[in-house]
Amino acid sequence: MSSYFSATYSDARAKFLSACLDVKAAVRSYENPERGPAGESLFTDTTWIGPDNAPNVVVVTSSTHGVEGFAGSAIQIGLLLDPDAPKPSGDVALLLVHAINPYGFAWLRRENEDNVDLNRNFVDHENKNYPENDLFEEIVDHLIPVEWNDTAYQNYLTAIQSLNEKYGEVPVRKAMHKGQHKHADSIHYGGASATWSNKTLGLICSDYLKKSKRAAMIDIHTGLGPYGYGELMTPSKPGEAVYDFFYNWYGDEVHSTTAGASLYAGSKGSILAGFRPLVGSLEWAAVGLEYGTRERETMRKVMLANSWLHLHGELDSDLGRKIKQEVKDASYPDEDEWKSLVWKRGKEVIGIALERFPTS
Ligand SMILES: [Zn+2]
Repeated sequence: MSSYFSATYSDARAKFLSACLDVKAAVRSYENPERGPAGESLFTDTTWIGPDNAPNVVVVTSSTHGVEGFAGSAIQIGLLLDPDAPKPSGDVALLLVHAINPYGFAWLRRENEDNVDLNRNFVDHENKNYPENDLFEEIVDHLIPVEWNDTAYQNYLTAIQSLNEKYGEVPVRKAMHKGQHKHADSIHYGGASATWSNKTLGLICSDYLKKSKRAAMIDIHTGLGPYGYGELMTPSKPGEAVYDFFYNWYGDEVHSTTAGASLYAGSKGSILAGFRPLVGSLEWAAVGLEYGTRERETMRKVMLANSWLHLHGELDSDLGRKIKQEVKDASYPDEDEWKSLVWKRGKEVIGIALERFPTS
C-alpha cells in the first residue's frame, strides 16, 4: 500500500503510467506548457477503466491544489493495482485524472503556473462576472509579509487579529478564502481567464464523456480536518440536487460547506462547480474528498511561509528548502499510519460510488 505513494510529482507520474501499463489501460496525456523544478515536462494523465460505452462514470481527480496531489495520486495508483481495490462493473466506468495541476504538484504549491488557485478559477471570465470581495482590498496588504521570520509571523497574526476586531472573524476569513481576481501576486487569486488546467479539464470531459449519461466527480484534497480522515464536502446544500445525490450514496458523511458548521470558508469558482458546464447535457455531480494532515495552526503558518517564499524568498536557499519540506509534510505526512488511512478511506468512498451508481 505505501508503495502507491510517491516522493515527487515525477515519481507519481512514473508510477501512474507504469500502473496503467500493468493493467493494460490506455493513457491520454495532456502536456502543460511549463516545466518542473528539475526541468521535467509536466502532464495531466488520464485513463479509463471499465466498459467503453458505460453510461455512468465515476471521475476521480487529483492535485487540483498541486502539492495536495500525493494522496490522490496514491489512491489512483491503488485503484489500478491493488487486488482489493473496488472495480467498475456493469454499466459503470472509472475515469482517473492524474495531476490536473501538475505545475503546483511538481513545485510543491497549491497554486498553478499563474499563481492561480484552481479552485477559484471556474468562474465566468468572459463577462468578468467575479464574486464580490471588497473586504479583501482592506486586508490584502497584511496578508504576505515581506520578510519571513518569527517576528514577521507574530506581526502577521497581530494584524489579522486587529482586522478581526474591526470587521469580524468570519467576514475576514471569508474574504481571505473565497477568492479574488484583482491581486495576481496575493493568495487565493482566481485569475483573469480560464487557466491551462481549467481548459484541460474541459478537453478531458469532451474526450471521454460525450457518450455518457451521468458523471460523478470525486476531487481529492489534503490539509483540512482530522488526521487521515477523508471528509466528503460539497458547496451544495441539503435539498439541492448535488447534495441529495451524494447523500443517497454516503448519508450523513456528506458535509455541506455552505450550510451549518464547516471548517471550510466557502470558495467561489471551485472545480466542483466548474465541472457542470464542462459536461454539457450530462447529469452530473461533484464532491470534494478532503483528508486532514496537521494541526490548523501549523497549516496556516506553513502555507503563509510558502506564499512568502514564492513572492519574496529564494527557493534555492536553506530557508527555501526548509519551507518546502514543511509544505510537503503539511500536505502529505510521510507516515505509514496516514497512508494506510488515506488508502482505506479512498477505497471505501470510491467503492460506494462504483457500487451505488444508478444502473439504468
Ligand atoms: Zn485543496
